[in-house]
This record gives sequence, structure tokens and C-alpha cells, in this order.
Amino acid sequence: MANPMADEMRRFKGSDEKNPFEAMSERFDRAATLLGLDEDLYRVMRVPSREIKVYIPVRMDTGHIQVFEGYRVQHNFARGPAKGGIRYAPDVTLDEVKALSAWMTWKCAVVNVPFGGGKGGIICDPAQMSIGELERLTRRYTSELIDFIGPDKDVPAPDMNTNEQTMAWIMDTFSMHARHTVTAVVTGKPIALGGSLGRREATGRGVLFCVNEAIKRFNLTPQETTVVVQGSGNVGGIGAELMHQEGYKVIAISDVGGGIYNKDGLDIPDVLAYLRENKSLEGYPNVEFVDNKQLLEIECDVLAPCATENQITSENADRIRCKILAEGANGPTTPKADKILHDKGIFVIPDILANAGGVTVSYFEWVQDRMGYFWSEDEVNSRLKDKMVASFNELCHYAEKHDVDTRTAAYMLAIDRVAYDTRMRGIYA
Ligand code: NAD
Repeated sequence: MANPMADEMRRFKGSDEKNPFEAMSERFDRAATLLGLDEDLYRVMRVPSREIKVYIPVRMDTGHIQVFEGYRVQHNFARGPAKGGIRYAPDVTLDEVKALSAWMTWKCAVVNVPFGGGKGGIICDPAQMSIGELERLTRRYTSELIDFIGPDKDVPAPDMNTNEQTMAWIMDTFSMHARHTVTAVVTGKPIALGGSLGRREATGRGVLFCVNEAIKRFNLTPQETTVVVQGSGNVGGIGAELMHQEGYKVIAISDVGGGIYNKDGLDIPDVLAYLRENKSLEGYPNVEFVDNKQLLEIECDVLAPCATENQITSENADRIRCKILAEGANGPTTPKADKILHDKGIFVIPDILANAGGVTVSYFEWVQDRMGYFWSEDEVNSRLKDKMVASFNELCHYAEKHDVDTRTAAYMLAIDRVAYDTRMRGIYA
């Protein structure tokens, strides 16, 4: 039977394995086909609702104006305001931001929080900018987006190279325009300005909760489980530290400059303290040094890529030697690699579940800001655990019921939820 969506599917299917929007679209298509998604819903859900491009003039410390290009993509609002981070990097692309915004829609749906997806980015090199320049860049970007963001419209958060300070500037700029303080316009704020306890650790903690559930399927205890972590930032560093605390044997970890490996396990708090002090893992004693490619190929029970996109591709997937892949980063695995991992029998905890702890506690922050009542850290962590464990088990159940791999199941579950809400609301066309 002819598939009326086939032409559109082909149009989006490119040959660039590493284009994140194509990777997202390929998985969306597979899940939509398996779900038998209605043709009209398919067309609406496959593309973002809104792509905003802004040119941001900034007075640099030299006194001259430089103009930066920035984006905010709002992928879907069917279940609530758009939600997602803002990244500052020299190589940000619109396709990357589009993919990340779509992943936010699916992620929020997988853990069932009432948000859609959004993402922002500015092409800039924050390492080369002063704090004053970064503040002016952030405030002007916020003012360009003033009509499009807000607690009921779109709620940004930190991502690569943005942090609590960036969120405080956005919150203040938005509040100055609104003429009153609006804390719920962003999440990931400093605690004193309406941030949530436990937010900083939430993504790494969410990875831990998923891994705790996954090892049960292999009859492993944390003490028997070896872990390799790529990245030592907010997700990788905190994830590794929490796993170490729980008794896991973390045998390798890296940062952008490379990694360290000791088959008997690493003292993660000591490694992270060393990294903070030396800004590099180089020179750390009693370990073997590996590059980021070698690190991914170390034999282990759990491999947690927690750095960046496209780390596991058709080129190296065959050499991955783990039982469980816990995707702390967004998009670390390409669709071509998915198939290879599946054939090898690796159990994948897909990114849109594995790293959803961050957006879950962002949701808690937004709720607390709107109530004006703040929870204890234990309460935040316990609610996070409930959400992650329930979502993990729901996903496994869904995968078994539909006889699909966990990534496809995650997309199917998410698309099904967004489609249901879209259908209930009706398409205003
Ligand atoms: P971060 O900037 O705190 O840390 C990134 C880490 O990765 C650093 O150790 C850095 O040295 C390393 N790194 C950067 N580029 C690398 C490369 N090319 N190869 C190897 N290592 C590299 O960032 P983060 O907040 O930990 O985010 C990491 C990933 O997790 C990103 O994909 C991000 O989108 C995703 N994520 C983050 C959160 C969050 O709450 N922070 C939530 C969900 C998803």
C-alpha cells in the first residue's frame, strides 16, 4: 500500500549521519510508522512550531559593536509551555538547536511533565568573552525574545556554556520589562533567586536512578558493576560521583582533553578535585591515559556517554563493549550505530529518558516558583526518584509489549502522548 508520508520521509532523510536533526527525524519516522500515526498529525508534529533567529548587537569591551547570531526554536506546545536550555558555542547550528528542541518535546513526554520542547543557542565563543560582554549578550538576546518567552510560553534553562548566572541575567532582564519579578521564566537559577535544591545534581542523579534499575535486569549489584563515563561536567562528573557513592566501580572518566583508566576503579571525588584544580586530567597518578575514542571502547558493564553528540557512530559502534549504554548526553549515538548496538544485544537507556532528570527537576523548580513555596532537597530527590523509576519501568514495559528496542519505544511513547493531546485539542488549521 502506498504510504502518503513516504515523500516527506524521504525529503528529510539525508545522508549525513551526524546531522542531529536528521537523526531525530529518522527516529521520529520509524516510531510514527510503527504507531500508524495519522498523516495530518505526522505533518504537524514532525516540524517545529516556531524558529526564531535574532541578530544580537553587543558593545564589546573595545567600545565597538559586534553582532552575534542567536536562535530559539520552539518545537511543540501541545502539552504546555516550551522548555529547554540555551547553549553558547562557536559551532552552534540551527539544525542542532532544532534537534535539541524536538528531543525536549519527546523527553518531557517520556517522563510525563506538562511541557513542550524548546532550545536556544548563540554562536559565540564564551571562552574569549569577558563577563561584562556575556552579560550584555545575554540581556540583549533576552530582550529580543521578550514576546516569546515567559512562564506560560517558553521557559529556558542552562545548557553547554551557560549557567546559573546566565539564568539570573535572563530572569532579571525579563522582570525589568515586566515591571515585576518573574522567577518562573527560567529554571536552573541560583537557589537564592528561586532555584530548586537538587537541580544542579538532577541530571546525573537521574542517570543513576536509571542505571540502578537497568542493572537489576542483569542481576548485578552496584558493587559488581564497572562503569565508564565520558565527560566530567554537570552530567558526567556528578553522575560519576553519585555512582561512586552508591558503590559502583567507576573505572574510567574523561573530559574534552582525554580520559583516565584504572581497571580496579577510580577515586572519583579525588579525580574531580584534581580536575577542578588542574583544569585537566593529565598527570593524575596511577592510571592509564586514553583518548576519548579509546575510552568508549573499554570493556565495562555500563558505558555512560555524558559529553556531546555523535560519539557512537557506524564507525565505532562495533567496538563498544558494554552491557548497558546510559546516554547522559543528548544525541550521543547515531541511528546507524543504534542498529549495530541492537544486534550486539546492548541494552540502551535512551537519552530522552536517561538525562530527563534535569528537566524533571526544572519542572519542580517552575512549580515551586509559581507556588512561592520551596521543598527540601530530600523531597526534590525523592520526587525525582519516583518519576525516573516509574518512567524507566513504563518504557521497558512498552518496549516489551510492542516488541521494539528501548529507543524506538521511547519515541513511540512520547509521540503517542503528544499526538493524543494534539488530537484532543484539535489542529487549528
Ligand atoms: P558540561 O559543559 O558541564 O560538561 C561537558 C563535559 O564534556 C566536560 O567534561 C567537557 O570537557 C566534555 N566534553 C566537551 N566536548 C567534548 C568532546 N568533544 N569530547 C569529549 N568530551 C567533551 O555539560 P553538561 O551540562 O554536563 O552536558 C553534557 C551533555 O548532557 C550535553 O549533551 C547536554 O545537552 C546534555 N544534558 C545536560 C543536562 C544538564 O542538566 N546539564 C540535561 C540533559 C542533557
